[in-house]
Amino acid sequence: MEIILVGPPGAGKGTQAQRLIALIAVPQISTGDMLREAKKAGTKLGLEAKSYMERGVLVPDEIVIGLVEERLKASDCNPGYMLDGFPRTVAQAMALDGILSKMQRKIDHVLLLEVPDEVIVERITGRRTCKHCGKIYHIKFDPPPQESCECGSKGEFMVRADDKEDVVKERLKIYHDQTAPLAKYYQKKSVLRVIDGLGSPDQVFDRIRKFLMTSDREGGGSDES
Ligand code: AMP
Repeated sequence: MEIILVGPPGAGKGTQAQRLIALIAVPQISTGDMLREAKKAGTKLGLEAKSYMERGVLVPDEIVIGLVEERLKASDCNPGYMLDGFPRTVAQAMALDGILSKMQRKIDHVLLLEVPDEVIVERITGRRTCKHCGKIYHIKFDPPPQESCECGSKGEFMVRADDKEDVVKERLKIYHDQTAPLAKYYQKKSVLRVIDGLGSPDQVFDRIRKFLMTSDREGGGSDES
């Protein structure tokens, strides 16, 4: 299955993505994770992306398009893939269409997680990432058990530079200006499905799972409702 997960920062894409890949057994392709890895490894691309990411603005299209194009060629993507955080602009979506058509592939579903801005600010600013394994917790909704991570490390959690409140607000503005137009783009292609992103991760995942099961039985067809 070939899926795109879209939504504002903090809509729960990462959490849902982890469950989704376990359900449909395809790799997750997260441009945010790939860029963070490149940054950590100190590669040329990582250094170039760093200043954009820390300001909460989008990395130039050509950088992420190149990353995704390379990644999609890997053999683990043969049975399908789930794109998380890409495309983020209509230009990226058009480039993706070009890449996929060269590979004679096409997107089955675009799942848009919808969450109001005020909920997002609360969700993101409480997010804490384990310094060792990268697992994400939330100080209110999903605190680490006894202040230690499940990977065994104790109390070493950090706030991502782009999860600070002023940066979150900037990222939301960018989402509304540059990423939200993707809804119309994919609606026209009849692959868009809006998923209510409010509620617990289990409740949201249940909505996704039910939709995928129904569309599977019905042989595809999604809509924007
Ligand atoms: P994420 O973890 O998906 O929220 O991404 C973190 C940051 O990486 C974003 O705020 C952008 O600076 C950059 N980024 C990730 N994916 C993309 C993309 N598709 N296009 C441009 N920038 C991206």
